[in-house]
Amino acid sequence: MEDYDAPDELVRQRRPDIPVTCFRPAALEGAVRWFTQNFPGKVLYAVKANPAPYILSGLFHAGIKHFDVASIPEIELVRGLLPEAHLSFMHPVKSRQAIERAYFDYGVRDFAFDSLEELEKIVTCTGKSKDLTLMLRLAVPNTASELPLSGKFGIAPEKAATLLKAARKAGKRLGITFHVGSQTMDPQAYSTALALVGEILQSIPRTRVDIIDVGGGFPSLYPDMVPPALADYKTAIEQGFDQLPHSGRYEFWCEPGRALVAESCSVIVKVDLRKDDVLYINDGTYGSLFDAGHMGFRYPVRLIRPTPGGTDAALKPFRFYGPTCDSIDYMPGPFSLPEDVREGDYIEIGQLGAYGNTMRTGFNGFDVTETVSVKAPPLTTMYDDAPETTDSRELIIV
Ligand SMILES: *Cc1c(COP(=O)(O)O)cnc(C)c1O
Repeated sequence: MEDYDAPDELVRQRRPDIPVTCFRPAALEGAVRWFTQNFPGKVLYAVKANPAPYILSGLFHAGIKHFDVASIPEIELVRGLLPEAHLSFMHPVKSRQAIERAYFDYGVRDFAFDSLEELEKIVTCTGKSKDLTLMLRLAVPNTASELPLSGKFGIAPEKAATLLKAARKAGKRLGITFHVGSQTMDPQAYSTALALVGEILQSIPRTRVDIIDVGGGFPSLYPDMVPPALADYKTAIEQGFDQLPHSGRYEFWCEPGRALVAESCSVIVKVDLRKDDVLYINDGTYGSLFDAGHMGFRYPVRLIRPTPGGTDAALKPFRFYGPTCDSIDYMPGPFSLPEDVREGDYIEIGQLGAYGNTMRTGFNGFDVTETVSVKAPPLTTMYDDAPETTDSRELIIV
């Protein structure tokens, strides 16, 4: 991977015609440091947020040894790259063949489930093995989340006791896991979920539970979504733990995806045409900008002008169209850029390390990209003392 001091240097030297991902190893290490220092227990990385090999290796070398995987290809990817990584199969619905292969071919011992049927599948397909860690996925409110995940997975709290008792007999270790929803804006969501866990534990005093896994959902920073400091999430989780019966007994797990990787990559795109307030750029919703189109995410942006002279023009809101011929390849933003932005300019779009490149398809032939590493800090960060949005005015390179 080529290395540059800053994205601007690359633009001026190379004037790339394809989208270029800028990987920031230092930002990745900073995020890992925060999670491993603040959460005693296991920090599992949710691989789906970004499975790029440089991300997986970067996380591992920075201190993440546990990976939350959801499919055999994800298992093969992590195993191939990091033979010593510990894998947990946290998808609550798996094919029988996937369970068998995970257990027998790849040594996976941790499996999630949210129904009696899935528990029976896991027990049968692992040959009634006695070394399983069984994690019950609980349904919890996702109301503080920008991207709720409830509805599809999770057992209703009132039905959890029966399943926990059944799993206690089948597994060596037993855990409860939940997901408060991605990009959760209110730390209380974790204490509310833990209170539900507490009620369940109270109803089964003779069933020992070994692990409590608070899942993912930790937020990142976007121009119109400024969450409380991550320290407040830690506090809410600690308070939730303190309220549990036998609170000191449980091993702590969490499964961040977005918060570990979002800041670690930006993408440099090129403006191919301007029509009034619409910019036609060379990446879009079939590329790394799925969430900018389909979820209406606004990302931090800054102009990089490849020619000398720069601009001190005032900022103006712009909308983007992506490179494919599909009209839903559209990103409403608005994205704030200098009003004289023009064809041939470049835009750096930040916070695309999570759920960015991993969503890329080859539709219409626009899947050719490049990745470089840069030393420059990310466009915005949650890992300073206090989170703050950067005034995009200050980000314009002139
Ligand atoms: C997606 C997912 C995560 C990560 O969620 P983020 O919101 O990216 O932190 C964690 N656990 C499970 C089971 C998931 O499906």
